[in-house]
Amino acid sequence: MDIRSMTLEELKTAVVRMGEKPFRAKQIYEWLHVKLADTYGEMTNLSAALREKLAKTYELYPIKVLEVQTSRIDGTRKFLFGLSDRQVVESVWMQYHHGNSVCISSQVGCRMGCKFCASAIGGLVRNLTAAEMLGQVYAIQKLTGERVSNVVVMGTGEPFDNYENLLRFLHMLTDENGLHISQRNVTVSTCGIVPGIRSFAKEGLQVTLALSLHASDNEKRRELMPVAFQYELSEVMAACRYYFEKTGRRMTYEYSLVGGVNDSDEDAAKLGKLLKGQNCHVNLIPVNPVRERSYVQSDRTVVENFKNKLEKCGINVTIRREMGRDIDGACGQLRRRYEDDCR
Ligand code: SAH
Repeated sequence: MDIRSMTLEELKTAVVRMGEKPFRAKQIYEWLHVKLADTYGEMTNLSAALREKLAKTYELYPIKVLEVQTSRIDGTRKFLFGLSDRQVVESVWMQYHHGNSVCISSQVGCRMGCKFCASAIGGLVRNLTAAEMLGQVYAIQKLTGERVSNVVVMGTGEPFDNYENLLRFLHMLTDENGLHISQRNVTVSTCGIVPGIRSFAKEGLQVTLALSLHASDNEKRRELMPVAFQYELSEVMAACRYYFEKTGRRMTYEYSLVGGVNDSDEDAAKLGKLLKGQNCHVNLIPVNPVRERSYVQSDRTVVENFKNKLEKCGINVTIRREMGRDIDGACGQLRRRYEDDCR
């Protein structure tokens, strides 16, 4: 196990087993999760003997920066990181007036197969460990020199397809002994795995859940997202209402507008009807064209009109600002291009 995936409690057990005092665990945890050390050599308040013992027992992999792209429009930065087995993942850093937000990947590739998504093309390679998810946030904080205040699990991968590691990651990210990011500043986005949503509701977390809706009936949703064959829309919506009941956290619904596919007046009316009366927020995302797919963006006027229609139903709507338009913006595009270049 990578030592960075271990909770403080697990570290305590481990150091005591090595014949050390329990407080050593807190020192190690601080090196890993506050001072963001990448090597045992940096942990200067530990004896050389202990550092050596740790290094022999637990791996500590620094995440490697392979590429950084900076947007000339808004300063958004995209990072391509190399993992210990030479797999690569991408993460995004965005500056907002309320703080700096990092979008991380939860898997290498993805097996959900959404039709408009670049991450789906090569399928799933493997899950990321908690250390690898934390590593993306830590590396970005170190590289930018600025505190990360918000984290969104909206990069490559389906977080509920990697549930255990996701939970471990969330607990450690928001732990007061680590970076201590407020749970309320964390968002997890799912394509709608119903058992995952229901379990997540019971974890006692104050995290925002975003559901990728993209269509308001089963038929259209199935055209865009294969996962919709597995879970009926009515079941998905019931699970989301359950999440709100259990946590008190207002749901976010993501709706990627795809030109001529899900952006008509009728689609807006249907969505309005589906969400009417729910305390929720809709995030409209103009689809980001992916080279391998033929989907196109809706016209700006169509997007505005769609938003107005929803607002008339009393629904809270925002159009996602397209950050970093000039860099490989859409989920998974940077990783894909990198792998194509390598090939
Ligand atoms: N698997 C999770 C999180 C990753 S994707 C999920 O499905 O929610 C984050 C969001 O971006 C999802 O709403 C996804 O459907 C959307 N998305 C992916 N590719 C896109 C693209 N090319 N254009 C617009 N939105 C996209």
